[in-house]
Amino acid sequence: MASCTFSSSASTPVSLKTIVPPPLPHPRHPTRFTSSLPCDELSALGQEDGDEAVPVPDNLLSSPRMVRNAVYSFVNPEDQSKNAFLLSWNKEFAKELGVDSNKIERSQWSEQELDQLVKVLTGGGRKIPAPQQNEQEAGKGPRETQPWAHCYGGHQFGYYAGQLGDGRAISLFETVNPATGQAWELQLKGAGKTPYSRFADGYAVLRSSVREYLCAEAVAALDVASSRSLAILSTETMVVREEGGEPGSIVCRVAPSWVRFGSFEIFFYRKDRINLRRLAEYVCDEVYKLPRDDPHDTAAFTELFRKVDLEVAPKPETDEPKHVSAAVDGEAQGAPVTEKQPKALYRNRFAKMFEQVAYRTAIMVSGWQAIGFCHGVMNTDNMSILGLTIDYGPYAFLDKYDPLFICNHSDSEGRYSFQQQPGICLWNLGRLALTLENLIGAQERVDDLDWVRQQEADAEKEEQLKEGARDLVVEILNKSFRDVFLKDYRRRMNEKFGLGGADQVKDEDLTEIVVPALAWMDDYEVDYHQFYRALADYKVQGADTVNENGAQIEVLVKRLLPTPIHMARGSVAVEEIKGWLEPYHTRLVRTDALKDDQARRVRMNKVNPAFVLRNWVAQRVIERATESVMKTREESTEEDLDKDLLDRILWMCQHPFGEEGRSQSEETTTSADGTCEITRNDAGLEIYGEYVGPVPEWGQGIQCSCSS
Ligand code: AMP
Ligand code: MG
Repeated sequence: MASCTFSSSASTPVSLKTIVPPPLPHPRHPTRFTSSLPCDELSALGQEDGDEAVPVPDNLLSSPRMVRNAVYSFVNPEDQSKNAFLLSWNKEFAKELGVDSNKIERSQWSEQELDQLVKVLTGGGRKIPAPQQNEQEAGKGPRETQPWAHCYGGHQFGYYAGQLGDGRAISLFETVNPATGQAWELQLKGAGKTPYSRFADGYAVLRSSVREYLCAEAVAALDVASSRSLAILSTETMVVREEGGEPGSIVCRVAPSWVRFGSFEIFFYRKDRINLRRLAEYVCDEVYKLPRDDPHDTAAFTELFRKVDLEVAPKPETDEPKHVSAAVDGEAQGAPVTEKQPKALYRNRFAKMFEQVAYRTAIMVSGWQAIGFCHGVMNTDNMSILGLTIDYGPYAFLDKYDPLFICNHSDSEGRYSFQQQPGICLWNLGRLALTLENLIGAQERVDDLDWVRQQEADAEKEEQLKEGARDLVVEILNKSFRDVFLKDYRRRMNEKFGLGGADQVKDEDLTEIVVPALAWMDDYEVDYHQFYRALADYKVQGADTVNENGAQIEVLVKRLLPTPIHMARGSVAVEEIKGWLEPYHTRLVRTDALKDDQARRVRMNKVNPAFVLRNWVAQRVIERATESVMKTREESTEEDLDKDLLDRILWMCQHPFGEEGRSQSEETTTSADGTCEITRNDAGLEIYGEYVGPVPEWGQGIQCSCSS
């Protein structure tokens, strides 16, 4: 990035009250989250209209405090717009978000629009104007949405930590993409203090912002659910961390919902049943859009949920626990329910919501395990109610395959090591289930509020409620988490090995091919991602058995093993790889659809990335971005050597599959000194090159800590 590519905010103040904010999309009014859920009373004071309004000073609004009876607090982001720069704008996501098609590219913005965007995204916008919707609203002054911060708790490293909340993430507004109907909540991370900042400053450093900005896009492009990134900005603020002073930065990040497991936990541990229920109702209605329960119509109720299952979380009929569906169907047809039949466990909407969370979390973590992603801080406050990968901190993609890999320097026990991730998701779902036990356990009487209150007022009866929930919770965790995880992991690994995809998954593949291959990679310190790209070049045509492919296997092993290991143990590695290559080879030659080497190669290279956002790559971007920001501050006109690196790496994160993902308009030329090929994308940015090669020596084993 050259300093000349940055654009600063205007020196002339822009009146945001009168301008609707392109290139941002229009805010939805009223905001569904804040209008449906209870607000922190102190922060609500300033929100009244007209004479009722009480001006609340900013420092009071954002003073760290315990917030009770509320799901969020209204806040004003700190205005950090002075000398702020837009470092990168994600035009690919802007389209998905529903940004006006004439405003997707930076080249389409006027100076004033750029200034205004920078101002809003660095907290200088305060209230965001929303368009008038009808004639009656016209002339009544601007409709505005007020930014807010979420209140939540959470288990950190296994222990409940009390109130946490958005200490430095401020939600700006919600928007709905008119073309897709998808709702999104835009947040600024690093936007200053909120009531949830505890002892911290509310800022984010450029280092952590660059990491979050890029990785959310990388994870999403690898087909794993994630929050998304819209923009990253540098601010003038110098932020002090363990490593000393670092430039401040803000990421504008976006998700359909930012509700976390910890959002439920805070009310559960405070014994605040009313707000717990309100939040659960909101998630059922607005996030999952589950229909209301009708306890008198069991058959219709079951059918409705089957329909939702198909739309939201496709599962085969057999996933329905047999004894439950048999009993429910039997009742619906008027068949006598004999004593021997177990009582049907009624899944009310809260049980269904939990089932959806379990299902999506399973799919998310199967994705992490398949793409080799280590999150690093899987505390329950970092677990999304939508099963999205959120809160990117000290994460890492694996370099060499190592199931014990710990990416978080602060995680000395390895609680969140790579192989622990699925088990930790299950543990975290258990924490969420605890908070929902009364709602789930009330089954078909959950809307009989008097009855529910009576049960909760009596310890023995409340225990019965909880017991009622436990069988269902266990069943949901087994069916919608454990089974779904295994099924999806098998599918993903089948695709990575080029074995034909979802319809071709065989039980023995995991035990005969995948697990032994992983053990081989672990033993020989093989790069997890390069392994699949190299395996894609393995050819079976002309060789009926693995033994006829000796020369090819030697080449493969040489390509994969780090040089010292190859020198010391190369010939043993060749013998050992045959152990799992044999069933692999046999499977390929015996299946008509898999025999074609070229077709398999193309298929494998479409799911196995050539480019991976490894820690060394992120580190290089951070260094360059930091240099550029410093130069801009010093008003240096010196040309930046690594111009556009942030945008180039963003593009690679979004198009990680190399030649298989390339568009027609990319071109490959030879460098001026004739030593290497240079590929440019359709915007003329140089891509791939050294960033798809082996990890340089200096970049091996980089670990991050929680400090950001
Ligand atoms: P994390 O471990 O980043 O998920 O954060 C845990 C808690 O610490 C949350 O309440 C965060 O909002 C808060 N937090 C972390 N860093 C900061 C910061 N720099 N300023 C304010 N709050 C922070
Ligand atoms: Mg967090």
